[in-house]
Amino acid sequence: MCIKINLFEIEDLKQQVLSCTKCALAHGRTNVVFGEGNLQAKLMCIGEGPGRDEDLQGRPFVGKSGQLLDKILAACGFSRTENVFIANIVKCRPPNNRAPLPEEKAQCLPYLYKQIELINPTIIVLLGATALNGLIDESLKITKVRGQWIEWQNRWVMPTYHPAALLRNPSLKAETWEDFKKVVAQYRILVNPNHKAPHC
Ligand code: SF4
Repeated sequence: MCIKINLFEIEDLKQQVLSCTKCALAHGRTNVVFGEGNLQAKLMCIGEGPGRDEDLQGRPFVGKSGQLLDKILAACGFSRTENVFIANIVKCRPPNNRAPLPEEKAQCLPYLYKQIELINPTIIVLLGATALNGLIDESLKITKVRGQWIEWQNRWVMPTYHPAALLRNPSLKAETWEDFKKVVAQYRILVNPNHKAPHC
């Protein structure tokens, strides 16, 4: 697909999303959080939905969880500006940071599918249960399948813990780091054999 057409389509999609009122989450939001990063990234990270900081700034993963995610990505040689796009299952903040409801996910997921189609990542990292259940299968448990590659629409998908879970329970950091090391190894195989990562 032509990159220029892709960029126009993504901008078009972004404008649709920014004015979306398809579900009840539209009422309580300050900003829609479309997602951000390199539009030609071969790695996409997907989380649950905006929290308070994200809602206020209109950007994904900018609070404490986001700072931790950026640190993990940096240790893997990845950054939003160079080689990652970050998005969420829902684009508007659920009240009090509750998990998005099934009808909210159902309304919002087509936007994420379109983002994935247009950005066309080779590898997707799913951050937490909501991302895993929303994108792949409602019945899967993050504790059971994290660290294992899932093949989905000709893409390599790695489920791992959400950074917020690592902040609540630091003992999960070691497993998460193992998952990200697998992502770096696969990135070197599939995307860039010369990918440099400071810590793996
Ligand atoms: S969460 Fe998604 S579907 Fe609901 S209003 Fe926001 S952009 Fe639209």
